[in-house]
This record gives sequence, C-alpha cells and structure tokens, in this order.
Amino acid sequence: MPLTVLYITGWCRSGSTVLGNVLAEAAGVVHVGELRFLWKNGVLGTGSNGRCGCGLGHVECPFWSAVLEAARPAGRSLADHAADVVAWQGACRTRHTWSVLRRPPRNPWPATLDATYRAIAEVSGASVIVDSSKYASDAALLSGFPQIRPAHVHLIRDPRAVAWSWMQPKAYTGRRSALNSTLLWAGFNLAAEAVGRANRAGSVHLRYEDLVRSPRAAVGRILDLIGHEGPNPVAANGTVELGGNHTVTGNPNRFERGRTPIDEDRRWHTGLPRAQRATATLVASPLLHRYGYEMRG
Ligand SMILES: [Zn+2]
Repeated sequence: MPLTVLYITGWCRSGSTVLGNVLAEAAGVVHVGELRFLWKNGVLGTGSNGRCGCGLGHVECPFWSAVLEAARPAGRSLADHAADVVAWQGACRTRHTWSVLRRPPRNPWPATLDATYRAIAEVSGASVIVDSSKYASDAALLSGFPQIRPAHVHLIRDPRAVAWSWMQPKAYTGRRSALNSTLLWAGFNLAAEAVGRANRAGSVHLRYEDLVRSPRAAVGRILDLIGHEGPNPVAANGTVELGGNHTVTGNPNRFERGRTPIDEDRRWHTGLPRAQRATATLVASPLLHRYGYEMRG
C-alpha cells in the first residue's frame, strides 16, 4: 500500500491543528503537526513552542528521536544537521511555491522531507501522514516523491476571525496586526490554490466554518479523498475521542485528550475592533467572495 501524505495548506489560525488531530483518530492515520518546524523548534530550540504533543521535548520524545535519527546523515550531529535543514528550507518558502511547482530547489531539503515522511511511516506504522505545516512550497514537493501519494486539504477561515486570533496575546507565539495577518492570509491562500490546481484530483477546499459546523461531513469528505474506508472518528453529535499525539508545534489544544466537542470559535464577532475589521475586509476583498464570505462579515 503506498504511503499517503495529506498536507494541509492555508494560513495559520485556521483550525489545522484540530483537523489534524481529529483525522489522526481514523485507523492508520498519524498527525505529525507542523513537521516543517521539527528541526528549528524541536532540535535547535530557536523557534517557539518547542514541546511535542506528548509533552516531552522532541529530542527526548521516543517517536521523534527515532525519526530524527533515521533521517540524519551519517557523520553529522543532530544539531549540525538541523542547522543544515533550516538553511535549506530557506530556498523553499511560501513565496517560492510557483517556482517549486516548476522545479524543486536544488538542495537536499526535498530529499530530507521525503526521507522524513518515510521514517515517520516506519516508526508509526501508519499508512497516512497528516502534515499541518501549511507551507504550500513544501506541499508542492510531494508530487516529486516516488513512494508517496500526495493529497492536499486547502483549509480557509474568515480573515476577520484570523486577524482577531493573531491580535490576542498567546504564550507560544507572537502577535500580528490585522493588516499583516490578512496580507499573509491572501498570500498563503493563493499559494495553496496553485498547489491545488497542480493536483486537482487529490485536493479539496475546506472552510473552517464548515468544518466546525458539520465536522462529521467535513472529515468524511477528506477520508473519501484519500480512499480511507474505516469509520469516521467524528460521532454524530460532533465530538471526537482524542488520544495522544506526537505533534510538532501548533495550537495548544493539541494537548487536549478525551471526548472533545469540535466547536466554532466566534469570539471575533464581538471582539474585533471596527478599524481592524475594515482593514482585513479591504485587504481580503478580492478573495472573500471566492471563498463564500460576506463583505460585512
Ligand atoms: Zn512526542
């Protein structure tokens, strides 16, 4: 059975951590979180949010220590290799997505990502890996990996909700203005669209709002996309039983366990100040209609 990598694209604060953790409750599926940051946050500790979803540091976590060891070149220390990987990733950023679709970067990052996916499959025993890194440039590499079947979920959330989320102080990451968040929202979503167009048969669009209002149906669509025949992990009442996970970075809700409702976070409706709402609406306006959002929000 070929290994499937289901890559979540889109901009941050769109619910990708929740989606990944829900999908991971389907048989044979593992959610690895934002794999892109395994070396920077996990090994070097230079990013934010350095703990694995199991609560340990990545180097101490048995899952990640096995994966890191399998992907490390002989004769190179883990820290030196991680520094190499972070440097290579610099040639594969979101703004490079269109050029990566034409030609992958000529450095060892694509081969490292490919080898890491295969090591994850080996260590986890899973046949489907969910990567919620949201780097369309990395998602664009998947079609060049001969042993991997790529699938893409483009996850979209109302940019006003995203702007509100970025304005809130969070312990694990910095804040952004509504302008900055929405410019990045537009850029990451356009890059995600380019990746989806290159793999139409293996891609779906999903709005956060549809995910949280009809989670069982939304998850069912994704399981259909990858040909997964097991039971849908979302119960008819919209809850899911969350077990443990080994996720790299992401929303702190990745530490939640047990029977969990999938709820819509609507705090932005009352919390987002009028000026920031106007800024986000204006900057996002060319894409709002396309994604089914009202200008008035
Ligand atoms: Zn772990």
